[in-house]
Amino acid sequence: MNSANSFQEQFETGGQARPGFTWPDIETVFLDMDGTLLDKYYDDYFWEHYVPEVYARKNNLDHPAARQHLLGTYRSVENTLQWTDLDYWSERLGLDIAKLKKEISHLVNILPHVVDFLAYMEDLGKKVYLVTNAHPKALQVKMERVQLETCFQRLICSQEIGVAKEEPAFWHKLHNILPYDKETTLFADDTEKVLHSAAGYGIRHLIHIAQPSSRRKAQHSRHYPSILSFRELMF
Ligand SMILES: [Mg+2]
Repeated sequence: MNSANSFQEQFETGGQARPGFTWPDIETVFLDMDGTLLDKYYDDYFWEHYVPEVYARKNNLDHPAARQHLLGTYRSVENTLQWTDLDYWSERLGLDIAKLKKEISHLVNILPHVVDFLAYMEDLGKKVYLVTNAHPKALQVKMERVQLETCFQRLICSQEIGVAKEEPAFWHKLHNILPYDKETTLFADDTEKVLHSAAGYGIRHLIHIAQPSSRRKAQHSRHYPSILSFRELMF
């Protein structure tokens, strides 16, 4: 039975797909940051509550009206690099977004079992890279808080590549600056659209994170092996 068949059968029987690899198959590991290593609760709270609150205060609006206006504004640039560009939002909203991010950085937290998993990767001698759509300023705020930089060979922001991970071109451009073998690379991300783009490029081993936020219910992917925490990959 090949892994694609067993993956399909597990869905048909209502179970979750198991990752179809063993660690000796893997040389390089790409890890998303927000919702994969770090609790997405911070980002959700920041954009959905904190920014609307500050924006409402500044513009003499009531909070629900400010929130509704901003959620619509966010949607207009979803899945683009603008969405993650703190300078773009600072200018568009007339707020110092990087400063606001710092104000609530105590809410930045590492998801369960991530630290153990990163130590396990080091023990196994894997090349581990952080690959994020986050803006360099957002990355800085988060790394100051969680101190995980030394776990990675390199931290790569989409801004450096010039397109968001959702775009197939991202993976071509990434390959130019960081040669890697698609067949022996594992990539974990909480956004299916990003995994689809990586799959389209041919990255062989893809893992979906089913619970990006500690405050929201888990949602398993129907397309990729989908884990609740990295403990499931420590085999
Ligand atoms: Mg993410």
